[in-house]
Amino acid sequence: MSKEHKYVYTFGAGKAEGDASMRNLLGGKGANLAEMCNIGLPVPAGFTITTDVCTYYYANDRTYPKELKKRVEAALAHVETIMGAQFGSAKNPLLVSCRSGARESMPGMMDTVLNIGLNEKTLEALARQSQNERFAWDSYRRFVQMYGDVVLEMKPKDKRDIDPFEKILEEVKHTAKVQYDSELSVDQLKDVVAQFKKMVKEHTGKDFPTDPMEQVWGAIGAVFSSWMNDRAVVYRRQYGIPHEWGTATNVQAMVFGNLGNDCATGVGLTRDGALGFPGFNGDYLVNAQGEDVVAGIRTPKRIEIDLPKEMPEAFQQLDNIGKTLERHYKDVQDIEFTIQRGKVWMLQTRNAKRTGFAAVRIAVDLVNEGLITEQEALQKRRIPADDLNQLLQPIFDPEAKKKASAAGKLLAKGIAAGPGAATGKICFHASDAEAMHAANPSVELILVRRETSPEDLRGMRVAKGILTAFGGASSHAALVSRQMGKVCIVGCGALNIDYHKETLVVAGKTLKPGDWISIDGFSGELYEGKVPTKPSEVVEVLLTRSKKPEESEIYQRYAQLMGWVDKFRRLRVRTNADQPDEAARAVAFGAEGIGLCRTEHMFFGHLDEIREMIVADTKASREKALAKLLPFQRDDFAGLFREMKGRPVTIRLLDPPLHEFLSEHHLHEQPGLAAKLARQLDVSPEAITRRVAGLKEMNPMLGHRGCRLGIVYPEITAMQARAIFEAACQVKKEGIDVHPEVMIPLVGFLAEYKNQEAIVREVADKVFKEKGVSIDFLVGTMIEIPRATVVADQIAQSAEFFSFGTNDLTQTTLGMSRDDYGAFIGYYQEHDIIGSDPFQTIDKEGVGGLMKIGVERGRRSRENLKIGICGEHGGDPASVMFCHEIDLDYVSCSPFRVPIARLAAAQAALVK
Ligand code: ADP
Ligand code: MG
Ligand code: MG
Repeated sequence: MSKEHKYVYTFGAGKAEGDASMRNLLGGKGANLAEMCNIGLPVPAGFTITTDVCTYYYANDRTYPKELKKRVEAALAHVETIMGAQFGSAKNPLLVSCRSGARESMPGMMDTVLNIGLNEKTLEALARQSQNERFAWDSYRRFVQMYGDVVLEMKPKDKRDIDPFEKILEEVKHTAKVQYDSELSVDQLKDVVAQFKKMVKEHTGKDFPTDPMEQVWGAIGAVFSSWMNDRAVVYRRQYGIPHEWGTATNVQAMVFGNLGNDCATGVGLTRDGALGFPGFNGDYLVNAQGEDVVAGIRTPKRIEIDLPKEMPEAFQQLDNIGKTLERHYKDVQDIEFTIQRGKVWMLQTRNAKRTGFAAVRIAVDLVNEGLITEQEALQKRRIPADDLNQLLQPIFDPEAKKKASAAGKLLAKGIAAGPGAATGKICFHASDAEAMHAANPSVELILVRRETSPEDLRGMRVAKGILTAFGGASSHAALVSRQMGKVCIVGCGALNIDYHKETLVVAGKTLKPGDWISIDGFSGELYEGKVPTKPSEVVEVLLTRSKKPEESEIYQRYAQLMGWVDKFRRLRVRTNADQPDEAARAVAFGAEGIGLCRTEHMFFGHLDEIREMIVADTKASREKALAKLLPFQRDDFAGLFREMKGRPVTIRLLDPPLHEFLSEHHLHEQPGLAAKLARQLDVSPEAITRRVAGLKEMNPMLGHRGCRLGIVYPEITAMQARAIFEAACQVKKEGIDVHPEVMIPLVGFLAEYKNQEAIVREVADKVFKEKGVSIDFLVGTMIEIPRATVVADQIAQSAEFFSFGTNDLTQTTLGMSRDDYGAFIGYYQEHDIIGSDPFQTIDKEGVGGLMKIGVERGRRSRENLKIGICGEHGGDPASVMFCHEIDLDYVSCSPFRVPIARLAAAQAALVK
């Protein structure tokens, strides 16, 4: 048998054909079930049908390779032997589950069916063997429901409709006057099943299948089909998982958590996923099965609190398993298990999702415990660089919380599942949240639900925070929030949510959609109204200095981690800043220079003078106006130089088109403006209007801007250069080292560059003579239009450095305006025409291809050409990694992105 055609891999009784390295073929679930078998953990026997079969299935009109049938039968026979039971037997029946499992975990996105193999005959045998008729009927009613929902596609498409099976179950519970399904009697369960089957017949026109083989193939088909269901497709798009990967299908012998009160089903983490505390934690439900615990049907018990008391031996087994897993996988594990008559069975393990807080704590702790190396701690899969952002976000001000409590605004307390502070308006439905966000992207919402389900994903993404009444720390809401980095509280039992009346009743108050609430994801507290926030602990130590390092554990671990980051990265990180306070912040976050100072931001503070310069129609009157601006610019630059204490400061000469400072729009908005300017310049108001009309451009992005301004109006460049060098001389005289780098924007031709460079150098010489000081400085250019990358070798003959302006380079390379692409980018992404947003992550093939050309040609002319990037992309982890790959010297980003860029740079350097 050739390797390609091995479609089925078995596991059980301490050995497996697969292992953890085979996740591409076996999916994460299958590969790890095999691995757990191999390391001697208790796993019910089963087999995995590979992702190759999924690929075949979709390539061949939803059919299977013809040899699959035999392979599955053989594997099933193997499971029968290990379990000592027969599938479909009326004496000693084997039941199986059929479970999806892709390469990357996609929690709750695809389908699973439990208790396959049950019919009236096997059910009787099961009841006899277990001496528990109730258990047998409970398993059967679950099976009929899951099979109906998943295989017979009876689950409602619109989530506002209730599941028809749930409806029947609710009615029977209501008549029986019980709250939970675990309280139903055998006869009541029989009634439920009879009603279920009747409905199936009505719905499908066929009897519910009784043949176990038919059942298992039905379930296998449903699992492969679930790969393409809407929510799975949406999920993959969001997390960048290719549609081609496909899912594997796992068929596994059932173990039962619903056999009685010495049985349970549960999910847990080997360390806390919200803040990273050590120790096993999670949720379990006694006498329950499968998803009960995450579905939020009953509020589960806590593994770390209740299980040691309720089932001490099982807890001990579980704790040992957790330790074995952490030692083996060298990472925190997220596990699913069942306790059957006191024995723990493992049903799943995977590396746990965690918040940024937990990610940092866990990575640092694992190094300090000697389980992993510093390099491993920095792995992207352990700490996605973006997640560091969570540590820098504001938290609720403790004083403000006290005040709010005193004023009776503390409404309830739930389980803190996603740290952070979130304030927003109540919204009950994810689809409403989605619609409100589409109408107004800055809307602040808290999604308030009894529980969440995979259908709610899109709505959760746009909410600031998530609050649920049911479910524990491993519920869907908690899991997804952690992954999205959302503030989240779950299991807040005091909430009484009525979707129908659209009310949230809590602490005697009735809240409506649109009412403001605040949720504290550290403490689990829910407040009415808006609670003021204060900076994060890291920010308090580094920026506001309101905390000492030794007062913050979060800061201490952050600092330890960033120490490793700086040890391993090659790429330097600078910041985009125009103001001394911004620069100071960035330096505290580790910035090593300024990569972009936009001089026009300084101009906006002096509109009168700049407007006078714009409307001036002779060189002399323009110079007069510019002379008024000079001292302001000089002071601004001096402030930056002082703050940067000798670190390089890249200053870009004036870039935007002049109408941004003065346009017909401005004249219209400020009726006296034209007259005032006319007086200042001693011309007629009509002359002003005419001049302003003349500035109007059809396409300003491609108009008279960048170096084109300085070329036509050289006195602007001269004034800016003078301000830079006078400031530099002044600060140097104060004893502070200064390294200005003058950057010429929007260059496409060497001649443009040379024209501006000549002015800059001439002014520099003059100023140095006047002041009797000289300064080391560089002159270079932005590379932001495609032509510049192609002729980079010419430009680099004169330019001493390049800085990729990837915002404009993306606009001009893609011919896509950043101000207009909103009209179609969403559609493009939904329809897989384009992957990630090219203005957020560098389009590696297109824009990135030009960058590579620019780097290669630029360095061909000037070997040690310094090259950086200063577009928004400089703070995007994937783009930072790309910049490392193409050998840039530095990235530059906004101050709060600096730690993220540093981490991404280290991650890039550690990729083998
Ligand atoms: P998901 O990928 O959505 O988590 P799973 O395939 O893991 O779906 O199944 C969900 C749950 O069903 C498991 O956590 C487990 O509790 C239960 N389950 C699955 N297979 C078995 C089995 N063979 N025996 C007992 N319980 C099972
Ligand atoms: Mg699972
Ligand atoms: Mg630009």
